[in-house]
Order: sequence, then C-alpha cells, then structure tokens
Amino acid sequence: MTSALYDLTGRRVFVAGHRGMVGSAIVRRLASEGCEVIVAPRAELDLRDAARVKAFLADNRIDTLFMAAAKVGGILANATYPADFLIENLEIASATIRAAHEANVEKLLFLGSTCIYPKHAPQPIPESALLTGPLEPTNEAYALAKIVGVKLCEAYRTQHGRDFISAMPTNLYGAGDNYDLKSSHVLPALIAKAHEAKVRGDASFVVWGSGTPRREFLHADDCADALVFLMKHWSDSQHVNVGTGEDISIADLAALVKQVVGFEGTIEWDASMPDGTPRKLVDVSKLAGLGWKPTISLEDGIAATYRDFITK
Ligand code: GDP
Repeated sequence: MTSALYDLTGRRVFVAGHRGMVGSAIVRRLASEGCEVIVAPRAELDLRDAARVKAFLADNRIDTLFMAAAKVGGILANATYPADFLIENLEIASATIRAAHEANVEKLLFLGSTCIYPKHAPQPIPESALLTGPLEPTNEAYALAKIVGVKLCEAYRTQHGRDFISAMPTNLYGAGDNYDLKSSHVLPALIAKAHEAKVRGDASFVVWGSGTPRREFLHADDCADALVFLMKHWSDSQHVNVGTGEDISIADLAALVKQVVGFEGTIEWDASMPDGTPRKLVDVSKLAGLGWKPTISLEDGIAATYRDFITK
C-alpha cells in the first residue's frame, strides 16, 4: 500500500457523534493510530451552534475532525419527520464545517450517505451520479442536508484550500444500532422482530413492503476502518463511496436474519408499508482502487449484531 498522505500519529482528533453507531466504531478504530481522540458529550457541545463549535475546536487544538454526527432513522422516520431530518442535519453540517474552517482544522471527513444519489441512478452507483436526477421521496430531506454537507466541503476546498473530504457509506449496521421499530433501519428491525417472535413463540413476523428492494449492507466496524483509511489516503473534492459492492433483496435478508436468529416460523409481508428506492448498490471501484476492502461478511456481521442485541 502507498504511504499515507496524512499521518494521524500525534494528531488531536475530534470525533463528532461519538455515541452513535459509526462514531463509536471510529473511536474504537482510532485506538491503534497513535493519535489523541477527543469527544464531547451532547449536553456540552451543540453541534448546530457554529460559534460554540469553533470555540471548542480552538480550545482543544483539534487537528483532525470526523463528522459522524447526524439525526438518522429508517424509511418510516424519514418519511414522517422530514422537517426535523432536514433542519437538524443541515444545521449540524453547516455549523460544524464552517467552524472547522474558522478554527483552522487541518483535515475534516464529512460522512454522507448513499441516499444522496438519484432514485433511478445507474447501478452500481458511481460517485458521478450525484445531482443527475430526482431523489427518492422517502428520504429526500435527509439526502438534501447531506448533499449540502458534501458541497460545503467542496466549496471550502475551492475557496479556501481546505483539506475537507467526504465519504458516502452505504446502509450501515452493527453494534449499538437503533432497535426501535418505529425509527430503525431494516436490519436492526428484522433482528428485533425475529428475536421477539422466537421468544414469544409466534407463527410469523412482519416485514415491510414487497421484499423486492435491494440494499447493500456494510458493518459499522468496516465502515470506520474505511473512513480512517480515507482520512489517511484521500485528499480531493470528489466524494468517495464506501460499501461492499454486493447487495441483497429484502426478502433474502429477512430469510438470512431468520436463520441467524433461529426463528422457525414464517415471514408475513405488509404491502401497505413503503419500499423506498428500488435498489441502492454503490460502485466501490474508487475505494477498492485505493487499496481498501471490507472484511466482515454479512452473515458474520448479522450474527455479531444479534449477540449485541441480546446482551442489551
Ligand atoms: P432505506 O434504505 O432508506 O429505504 O432504509 P430502511 O433500512 O429503513 O429500509 C430498507 C428497506 O427495508 C425498505 O424497502 C423497507 O420497506 C424494508 N423494510 C422491511 N421491513 C422493515 C422494517 O421493519 N423496518 C424498516 N426500517 N425497513 C423495513
């Protein structure tokens, strides 16, 4: 592998959103980088307040910033609370990126999402598909806020020469996920539903939509590894997709979760619930070309996540 463009050794690194699934995985991953990791409890630092964030970054002499803070949720939460998802994520992105510039942060990585791509983007989705067509309506608000974050990184690079980069991870899952059925993403929801059905001795559990949509799933620990890799090896205005390069239908995913959990009943489909975008598989050739690939298989990742769920 080529030597790093940016060395994390000895850097003071702020992980924004350290309580979240990805932020906590980044903190764990940074332990072997020889850097000093700094986090801030939400009650002490409102990431929507640019002046306070600037003071925090300056006071703590932050060199490097991982922007993993966001208001996140599954298809139902996004479709039900678009105003909350848009305003909160816009404010977090604009305040934190602006503050990082004003506090002279050396390098920042903004975490986006593959929902920034058009609903009918070519599959697998190349980075160049951004802003080439209408978004998927169920997560348009979240996507718009994330697109602004990507564009802010680009704008600060163009106008001020800032080394601000962005990464677009595919659907993520792993330890510390949200298992609340009203706001969670599909994988933790299926784990919780299959487990509850097994414990109660139900004949079936309910899965939303038609089962035909296809999604790509990346374990949060693999994602954190890719983000640290990009921090060290990437410096460009172009954002980078982060994924496995493989997708699975929701029907096959439900069957896999059922098998890992050991539920012997059947699956019932609730067609009244939205399918969302038909397919979301990213083109990972740029990241692969740089020399990074995931190591956690979907089956092993689901098994580990299920162990995390039952020990909660
Ligand atoms: P999306 O990738 O933004 O659509 O986010 P989700 O992870 O919430 O949903 C992915 C797909 O899984 C959609 O087609 C959902 O309809 C489907 N799905 C099936 N059952 C569930 C469930 O119990 N919860 C969620 N969130 N999605 C489900």
